[in-house]
Amino acid sequence: MSYKLLPLHARKNIALVAHDNKKHELLEWAHFNRELLAVHTLYATGTTGTVLERELGVRIHKLESGPLGGDQQIGAKISEREIDFLIFFWDPLEPQSHDPDIKALLRVAAVWNIPVACNRSSADFIISSPLMDTEYERIVPDYSAYRTRLIPVPRPE
Ligand code: PGA
Repeated sequence: MSYKLLPLHARKNIALVAHDNKKHELLEWAHFNRELLAVHTLYATGTTGTVLERELGVRIHKLESGPLGGDQQIGAKISEREIDFLIFFWDPLEPQSHDPDIKALLRVAAVWNIPVACNRSSADFIISSPLMDTEYERIVPDYSAYRTRLIPVPRPE
């Protein structure tokens, strides 16, 4: 498969999502990294965004609440190249009503080679990377061949 390079600008589009049992962890993390986060454009699912905006005093583009379609909205933005990376503190101990959406979000992030932090330590490594404040070329597979693949269509008898 061939590859394409997608430019990421120094100011990144970051999506933040946390399940209810993980919201306090994300909030603590975001508090600690407030200055680093504030220079980027931030998106979040509804409730996560409301809490972060209120507690941090930074502007957040709030989408629908996760179980009401917010995870899917973030996934759609990833596939439209509008989100550059994802901080997603999902809860490994509780089944969620929107488990299929969570899986879909993580899947689409893998399709588009988006950096994903699913816990605090990986978020620490990502946010402190020197690449955060520079331009970066993200390698993604060239899906042109997949889009134009031939689908056998049965002919009517
Ligand atoms: P919420 O959604 O921020 O609206 O709580 C998070 C999630 O995807 O569960």
